[in-house]
Order: sequence, then C-alpha cells, then structure tokens
Amino acid sequence: MSESLFNVADTLSATDHPGASTVLREQTLQKSADITRTLQTTLDPSRLIELFSMEVGSLIVHQGVRYRNEDLDLDLKLGRQARHACTYRLNIGDEPLGKLTFRRNRKFNEAEFEALEQLLCSLLYPLRNALLYQDALQLAQKDPLTGVSNRSALDESLQCELSHARRHDSSCALLVLDIDHFKAVNDRYGHIVGDGVLRDIAARIGGCKRDGDLLFRYGGEEFVVLLRDTGEAGARLLAERIRSCIENSTCHCSGAELRITLSIGVSVLRDDDTPESLFARADQALYQAKRSGRNRVCVAD
Ligand code: GH3
Ligand code: MG
Ligand code: MG
Repeated sequence: MSESLFNVADTLSATDHPGASTVLREQTLQKSADITRTLQTTLDPSRLIELFSMEVGSLIVHQGVRYRNEDLDLDLKLGRQARHACTYRLNIGDEPLGKLTFRRNRKFNEAEFEALEQLLCSLLYPLRNALLYQDALQLAQKDPLTGVSNRSALDESLQCELSHARRHDSSCALLVLDIDHFKAVNDRYGHIVGDGVLRDIAARIGGCKRDGDLLFRYGGEEFVVLLRDTGEAGARLLAERIRSCIENSTCHCSGAELRITLSIGVSVLRDDDTPESLFARADQALYQAKRSGRNRVCVAD
C-alpha cells in the first residue's frame, strides 16, 4: 500500500516536468485540451470531478477518486478505493480548492505523477468557478441577519421532507414560532437591539433542536422548525423545550438585558397534506397560542 501527497497550483507549467516521457507528455497536452472542453459543460462540482476522472482514466488508469472540500462540506467518492493512492492539494494562489485522491491497485510511477499534475492544472479554474457558483447558491438560501436558512430554502425543504415522509411511510412535523410583543422591543430599545435579539433567539432555537431538524427564518420575527421522522409527542416535546429555554434565558444585546418569550404552533403531517396545508395548520395553532395568552405551545387538531 502506498500514499503520496502533492500540491497542485496554477503556477505549474509543462516545463516543470523534465522527467515525463515525450509520448506521454504529448498525450497529456492533447488530453488537457479535451479536459478543458469537457469541463465547460457543468457547474456542479460533483459532476465536474466525475468528468475529470473519466477523461484522465483514458490516459492514466485508476479505479477510484475521492474529492474533499471541507469549506463546502463536500466529500465525493467514485469507483473503488483501491490500495495505492496519490493525493493532490489543489490551490489557486493561496486559495485552497480541496483535495483530490486517485486510487488503484498498481503503484503510480513517476511519469504518471507528472502527467497527473499537468492534467490537474486544467481542472483548477473550472473547479473554482463551480465552487464559487455552489457558494452563491448556498448564500441565496441564507438569511443574512441570523445566518439560518431563509424562506426560499423552507419552500424547497418542505417539498423534500413531505416526499421523504411518504416514501418511508414516516411522519414529519412543523413548528411555527413567533416572538411575543417584538414590536415593543424595537419601540423601546431601537432596531439595532431588535436585530441582536433576532440573532440571539435564532441561535438559541438552533441550540435546542436536534441535528436532523431544520431551522428557518420565515420572515420578521417568525421562525420555522421542520422535524423529520417526528410525530405529535416528539414535536410537542421539542416545542416545549424551545419555549422554556427562551423564557428562562436573558438576551444581552448592545448593553440591554431583555427577557423574551415566544409562542409556538405545531402541526403533524396528515395523509392528504400539501406543504401549504401543513404550514397553514401550524400557523392557525400559533394564532391560538397568541389568543390564549402567548408564551405557550398549541398543537393543531
Ligand atoms: P405578537 O406578540 O402579537 O406577535 O406581537 P409582535 O409585536 O411581535 O408582532 P407585530 O407583528 O405587531 O410586530 C412584529 C415586529 O417585528 C414589527 C417589526 O418592526 C419587527 N421586525 C420585523 N423584522 C425585523 C427585523 O429584521 N429587525 C427588527 N429589529 N425588527 C423586525
Ligand atoms: Mg409575527
Ligand atoms: Mg410577534
């Protein structure tokens, strides 16, 4: 078993590889041109790596590749993770683009290492474009004030979770949370403190939920938590935990100390639900909680 680690940066050029055989070097140059053309067809990092591996495979046989990018939480494995490995750390300037590992049962030789490095130069800029695009897509789904997912992400996730629940014959639940008398916070302390409270509350809700639950800022001072594989008892329990956590904590914002409460409406998926009807029932339950005196959890019938 062998493992080699190299760096590939955009400063490499063909003359950096005096050891490569002339034939392989010519094939590599031709292949680089093919790769550049092929990689123009996608902005999906996973598809990009797959295409790159296929193109490289016709010149340098390998059984598997793995691409890791911690910043974007990507870990892509293709093919077999065979005995021998060579890993490349990819960079443009001092900008890291992740690590790419090739695996196969035979050792890689010196000429192949050099050819691989050369071919990887054709991957760097298309990969950076794809990563930037991916980053922009993720950013478009985030609420800039609190950093949690926004309403557009909620619309997508609701659809996905309903399909998941139906495919697996499981349940799913929705909490709609609304801060009580929040207008009075703005009126008394100003909008900057109000913004700080929203950030603080989002972080506290995030701290109460379980890992698989999804948190969104729906609008103004309203949040939504989507609970996968959860029935009424579990949803009620989590809603009560969040309510009680907020009630029993103090928000420290710009020198002000505030006690905040929130009201929560809960709905649990029914057979005939659409995303809209599931949300509407939780919203109705929230209004019930407000009418009943606020700082409480109400579950839809
Ligand atoms: P209730 O208990 O009935 O929910 O009363 P409320 O005062 O919380 O509800 P209302 O809908 O009357 O007021 C919501 C307030 O939320 C009004 C608006 O100024 C404030 N708000 C909405 N978005 C933001 C924001 O991004 N930052 C700040 N600081 N305030 C916001
Ligand atoms: Mg509201
Ligand atoms: Mg409110």
